[in-house]
Order: sequence, then structure tokens, then C-alpha cells
Amino acid sequence: MPRRPFIAGNWKMNTDAASGVELAKAVASQAAASDGVDVLVAPPFPYLHAIKAAVADTPLLVGSQNVWHEPSGAYTGEVSVGMLADVGCSHAILGHSERRVVLGEDDALINKKVHATLAGGLGVILCVGELLEEREAGDTEKVVETQLTGSLAGVTAEQMTAVTIAYEPVWAIGTGKTATPEQAQEVHAFVRGKMADAYGADVADAVRIQYGGSVKPANAAELLGQPDIDGALVGGASLKAETFLPIIDAA
Ligand code: PEP
Repeated sequence: MPRRPFIAGNWKMNTDAASGVELAKAVASQAAASDGVDVLVAPPFPYLHAIKAAVADTPLLVGSQNVWHEPSGAYTGEVSVGMLADVGCSHAILGHSERRVVLGEDDALINKKVHATLAGGLGVILCVGELLEEREAGDTEKVVETQLTGSLAGVTAEQMTAVTIAYEPVWAIGTGKTATPEQAQEVHAFVRGKMADAYGADVADAVRIQYGGSVKPANAAELLGQPDIDGALVGGASLKAETFLPIIDAA
């Protein structure tokens, strides 16, 4: 069965209450007009509730950019999976490079978050990707494999139906440098191969692998046209309807 394209917008620490709702409504109209494509926005935590309420009657999915793995308690500043479910989130983005690099998250912590998110009934968008020096040292596959193995430890084949993988070469995030379609396809095929080794051919065929790293209207169609690229995780270009909607269109 062909994989359904999945386009997600990671707003990071951007927008405000009014502009976030306005943007989400514009994306929701496009999502409604785009049969056959799953579309998600991941606003900052404080806006999730209002944005979900504003698009509740549309097919637009709303997700978080992170989560904490404990259900409740003395975790100052953190947000649980149950809280995200309570406000209507469908997914959590986990292991984003900004959390790995800036906030020091490692695969062991990300793995706890993956398990908590799946156990709480939400889908996971799991980000993996190499730094520039790792690519230049020829270590891309080793790095991506280590991240996949560590972050997905103990996740079953059945649970993988709720997991999307986002391959995001760190050197291409927010830099304007995009991996070429061939570079991206090569790593996507590698990731799918690892999924086949770990879970078998059916899971590997079904799992969606998004590309992320300076995706924009001008390069989306070519990237999304690669056989193992099933969608995009979009940062900067997801912050404006005029740049995000054409990417949904391309899918
Ligand atoms: C991201 O942060 O996930 C991302 C891919 O950002 P950008 O599209 O801005 O490179």
C-alpha cells in the first residue's frame, strides 16, 4: 500500500496567540482541501489548547514539540503526555536536534519519552540526523543507526504503526542548506533498511520517514518525489501560510 504523505510544521519558539490561531486556520483549510495528505502543526505549549479548539472541526492535526515522560508530579516546567492528550494533541515531536544539541537530551531520555508517548496513545515523530562534522567524517549512517537503536529500544512492531521518523541532517536545519534529493534519499533508504532489520518488511514498508532541513516550496516537490521520502518536517517555512501551503500542495 502506498504510504500517505505526512507534512508537519514545527513552529519552535515562534508565533503568538493571535498569529498562531490565524496561521493554524489557514493551514487547516489547506489540509481540508488536501485529501490523502496528513498535515500537522506543532505550536509552542501555551498555544496548543486554543489552536486545537480553533481547528477542531478540520483534519489538521495538532502536536507538541516535546513532552516529559512521567505522568505527573514534581517536574517543574514540564508537560506530560496526558496533558497533551487532554488538549487534543495527536503527536509529539521527540529527539529534535535542538533538544539533543542545545538541551542535552540523549537517546536514553528520548527512549523514555517515546515509550511514555506511545503508552499515552499519541503518535511519535522521532527526529534523527547527523552533525556536519559527522557527515564529513563519513559517520552519517553510524550516527543515525545509533540514534534509531537507542531511541526505539523496546518499541514493538505493533507500536511502530504510531511512529514516524524524521531524518533531519543537523547541518541543513535553519541554515538554508538542503540535503540534495539524492543525499536525503540515500539516508531514508538506509533508515528503512534498519527498520526492516529490526521489525521486518511489513513495518519497514509502512513506516513513514519525513525529511527535514530547510524544506521550502522551491525544493519540496523534488525531495518528496524520492521513493523513500514520505513527507517533511518543516521549520522556518511552516511559519507563514504562503510558504507552508505550497509544501502541502507538493505532497
Ligand atoms: C526543523 O526544525 O525541524 C527544521 C527542519 O527546520 P528548518 O525547516 O527551518 O530547517
